[in-house]
Amino acid sequence: MVRIAVIGLVGKSMFFEVPRFHTGGETIHATGFHEEWGGKGFNQAVMAARQGASVAFLGAVCASDVKPLKDFCSTEGFRVTLAAKKEATACAAILTDGTGETRVMVHPGAALSADDVDGFALTIATADILLLNNEVPEAVNIAALEIAVKHKVKVVFNPAPARDLPKTIRDVVSIWTPNEFEDSALGDVAGEVVTTLGARGCRIRSTGEIIPAPTVRAVDTTGAGDTFNGVLAVRLAEGDPLVNACRAANAAAARSTTVRYVLGAPSSGTRASIDQTVS
Ligand code: ADP
Repeated sequence: MVRIAVIGLVGKSMFFEVPRFHTGGETIHATGFHEEWGGKGFNQAVMAARQGASVAFLGAVCASDVKPLKDFCSTEGFRVTLAAKKEATACAAILTDGTGETRVMVHPGAALSADDVDGFALTIATADILLLNNEVPEAVNIAALEIAVKHKVKVVFNPAPARDLPKTIRDVVSIWTPNEFEDSALGDVAGEVVTTLGARGCRIRSTGEIIPAPTVRAVDTTGAGDTFNGVLAVRLAEGDPLVNACRAANAAAARSTTVRYVLGAPSSGTRASIDQTVS
């Protein structure tokens, strides 16, 4: 079993279906509601675990959320290290109107600090791949990268949301996974860049090759990039050539857009369902 270490934000995603968006001072009654755990890194960890990898996640939550989150992770079959904070757990309200347009509001809440990485050092050092993203403070990623470099652990970095990155990060990542917008913000970096292109699949920067995604009837593309990253990391850790890993990641991500929300049921995005799509 390959080992994937993931660091990221974890929080509560609340999805509201509304007939239309507010105008000033108005109260609107939602016609539907759904709540699940979310956060880029957390989604990526769940998706990697559903691929059958041995996954460990590091995140921060309000102390009162440690138990329910641990229970969820144990149901999903992966290990979690949680820094318990006084602040509220991160949360997001996602409003979707009748036309599928969304408005999102995020409260970042409890955040990891570089010191929290200490308790995860052994997990990073013994991982096949470390998966990082920009939803945590930069100091957290730098602390994790120092350990990864020291122990020659391959790093996949999802530079989302886009932000300027210091040379200490730019020079040590093996594979970057921006979307098209983040790609233009990323510029020149050491390592390979796999840019996700939405319905068009993804492009490998060094060769210019585009690996198309399967054509699907997409109903909700939220979190497609997270599924892509989780699956790509597992396949690379297993030793798949990059093109094959991209094919599997595309298949899983495309499939994830055919159902609503991000995590859905534990059975969504499993290895068997992806292999079926790729072959
Ligand atoms: P992000 O969600 O991070 O902005 P993208 O929109 O590029 O990233 O989507 C990530 C991946 O999800 C794509 O590379 C592709 O594999 C898959 N995907 C996204 N939208 C679609 C779609 N409409 N049809 C098929 N696959 C899709």
